[in-house]
Amino acid sequence: MSGNFYHGDPNRDNNFWVYPVYRSLQNARWDTYNAADLCNGVIETNWTEVVEEFDRMNLREQLLRGIYSYGFERPSAIQQTAIKPCILGHDVIAQAQSGTGKTATFSISVLQRIDLQSKECQALILAPTRELAQQIQKVVLAIGDYMGVTCLACIGGGSVQEDIRRLQSGVNIVVGTPGRVYDMLDRSALRSKHIKMLVLDEADEMLKEGFKDQIYNIFMKMPSNIQTVILSATMPKEVLDVTTKFMTDPIKILVKKDEITLEGIHQFYVDVQLEYGNMDQAERNTIMNAFRSGSSRVLIATDLMARGIDVQQVNLVVNYDLPTNRENYIHRIGRSGRFGRKGASINFVTNDDRSIMRSIEQFYNTRIQEMPANIADLL
Ligand code: ADP
Ligand code: MG
Repeated sequence: MSGNFYHGDPNRDNNFWVYPVYRSLQNARWDTYNAADLCNGVIETNWTEVVEEFDRMNLREQLLRGIYSYGFERPSAIQQTAIKPCILGHDVIAQAQSGTGKTATFSISVLQRIDLQSKECQALILAPTRELAQQIQKVVLAIGDYMGVTCLACIGGGSVQEDIRRLQSGVNIVVGTPGRVYDMLDRSALRSKHIKMLVLDEADEMLKEGFKDQIYNIFMKMPSNIQTVILSATMPKEVLDVTTKFMTDPIKILVKKDEITLEGIHQFYVDVQLEYGNMDQAERNTIMNAFRSGSSRVLIATDLMARGIDVQQVNLVVNYDLPTNRENYIHRIGRSGRFGRKGASINFVTNDDRSIMRSIEQFYNTRIQEMPANIADLL
């Protein structure tokens, strides 16, 4: 996978031409927090029990403390439904709209299931990109802070020897990208004997051609009674079909496809008759950090960054080109509108793109309006 992306900084005079659009949107009412909508989210499921408070989930005390100090007060809809079956040890397929807290759903479940007396790795979390794996590791460590849990990010680009050393010293949870994780398993640096839980974040991406074989190889190294939990905002039928091969009577928590788009995200298109750099991991990290901290305010990225990355301040996603698959449309625009915040997407479409745009609208039963001149007034 190549890391093609670069960023623009609107504070610098770099002729970044999307800047005026960005600025005019900046003053709009973005921050309206709409947690009620999240809790009302309609979810299709064969698991009906809903637990509306974290302190009614029978979580270990140090974990509950970690959740509250992380700033969470109430569980989101997916957390209210999916944490319980995960903790009970079921295989779980959890789909929920982008930005509604799937990371904490599996992180809390994993943290509840870990035996802290043991230094063996007991949970393996896989993600499609290094940045996402790092982000997940941070969440696990933050929520698990009072538990004194250890969690290693095993990702390409980092030192193999350092990973081996850390694994030998003992870690409770590994979160990583498939290539490096397989390497660690293959070298027996990561021992799978005590792994009881396998989590696939962005599962539909992970089970696509390209990743599928790697996931299969990792899966084959897991103990036969492994619990598998898979999550994504999008679960195409082909992916659900594949799950029958490695999941046993899974609990399914699914969203109807016309409920996948976030209501809080206004979608626009701009008619255009209508292009970037290669970076190493260190540069990618520097730029991502600058973006997260707010010192650079515009991030231009390829689909590499489409999934999972959570920066709450993002309120606008501009698609210079429509994505080549419809799932990624949802993932890209879902970088805005995190946890009930307002967001917007602007799509640059050529005549050739129109049919693709229509098919996205049709599939998700949503509307992408032509961008009006007075856009700021409308938001
Ligand atoms: P998803 O994976 O579903 O797209 P994330 O797990 O990245 O979404 O969560 C999106 C944002 O919502 C994150 O910034 C996260 O900290 C926040 N969040 C998740 N659960 C809660 C909660 N129960 N209360 C408040 N904020 C939450
Ligand atoms: Mg996510």
